[in-house]
Amino acid sequence: MPSISARWLFDGKGCLYEHALLAWEGERIIAVEPGRASYAEQRFGQALIMPGLVNAHTHLDLSDLSMQESPRDPCSWLGRVVAYRRTATAASICEAVRRGIVESVQHGVTLVGDIAATRHTLEVLRNSPLRATVFLEILGLSKSRARAAWQAARALLRSETPAGHYCLGLSPHSPYSTRRGLFCLAAQTRLPLAIHFAEFAEELALLTSHTGPFRAWLESLSAWDETALFPSYESLLRWLRSATRLLLVHVNYPTEPLVTTLVHWAGNDRVGVVYCPRTHAYFGHPPHPWLQLLQRGVPIVFGTDSRASNPDLDLLAELRYVWQRGCPLTPAELFQMATHTAAKLLNWTEAGFLAPGRLADFLVIPLEAANIHDPLRTLLETDSTPQHVYVGGQLVYAAGSEARGCGGTCSTGTAANNSPNFSRKPGNTSPPSSSADSPTTRTWSGLE
Ligand SMILES: [Zn+2]
Repeated sequence: MPSISARWLFDGKGCLYEHALLAWEGERIIAVEPGRASYAEQRFGQALIMPGLVNAHTHLDLSDLSMQESPRDPCSWLGRVVAYRRTATAASICEAVRRGIVESVQHGVTLVGDIAATRHTLEVLRNSPLRATVFLEILGLSKSRARAAWQAARALLRSETPAGHYCLGLSPHSPYSTRRGLFCLAAQTRLPLAIHFAEFAEELALLTSHTGPFRAWLESLSAWDETALFPSYESLLRWLRSATRLLLVHVNYPTEPLVTTLVHWAGNDRVGVVYCPRTHAYFGHPPHPWLQLLQRGVPIVFGTDSRASNPDLDLLAELRYVWQRGCPLTPAELFQMATHTAAKLLNWTEAGFLAPGRLADFLVIPLEAANIHDPLRTLLETDSTPQHVYVGGQLVYAAGSEARGCGGTCSTGTAANNSPNFSRKPGNTSPPSSSADSPTTRTWSGLE
């Protein structure tokens, strides 16, 4: 039975223990015992053990993009992403996903909420140590595009048997790009949903009056259909009330009716908002309302978004960014949001919390500073990085280790130094079940 200990252990739900021992068997934790550090098989001393971090929103398939200077307007940035996707090949997508996985694990991220535009993301994740809720992206405003998107998603859901480290969800892309019927069908599947929501100021003009730069941009792509949209955020949300889990990504420009709807809904533990701090700053949006939403009971979790709007996929850097700007929360509250709360909203209720019976996904982070009173605060105020990363009780990354490469079906690219160990065998974890209501039985209905 392997066991480790360190001076501090944070459990992910607010408790900080001293000189704690963590023991596990197979993929699950069997003991967390404060004061018993000396009994551990491996002792790390002046270090912090904590749950793996959860990046609640990213696009692994964009991980070979590099951030350029802030865009003049959202349409020019979206145009760049669309152009990139049109030139991507299966091999380049696989390589981008693999890069994103390597980078995530090196930064101590053990679970992601990923938006996948193609099945290639699943092909790479199937052989990787990273846990994921993979939200299959569906979009299209015209009936024909929406129908094609739905049929493609259904075919993928029918052919996929998620095993090991990922489970499936759906991502109707956004209120401005996705036909009403697609939201309704997605909600009926009972799969977890993630939606880019109230991301840009220009969205609202399109929804309420079919005007503004988004209309011109969609027309230029021959993608505009004035019969396709919900007239407001709250009218869309009403259709999503049956969703088992719902992540609203960004919410940079919430209307008061949207906030009221969210607050009313927030107590049921099924809906949350993803705030991507550095991506938010990249676009130059007004201050994000995450603290006001949190104070009114809306769960908030953190994401990086993609490398098209962020220099890296370092979730800890997002927390440090927030902390350095006068965060009124305690470090424990902040890390709880980035571990336990985020795992729960991604439907991984057995991850993000170090306790007997939970999944053994954890980090060991050495803390070099003297006179440490609060190790979580020290972690936010220094540049300490994970030394060891475990997923399902297996070491998947050790700082300074030799490259171990990719042992899966991803045939593109070469392994980077210190890359995570991809040679572990996934498949021994039961991914969270989504629903008894099979999505594959749904057909295109009259909800158009
Ligand atoms: Zn995104």
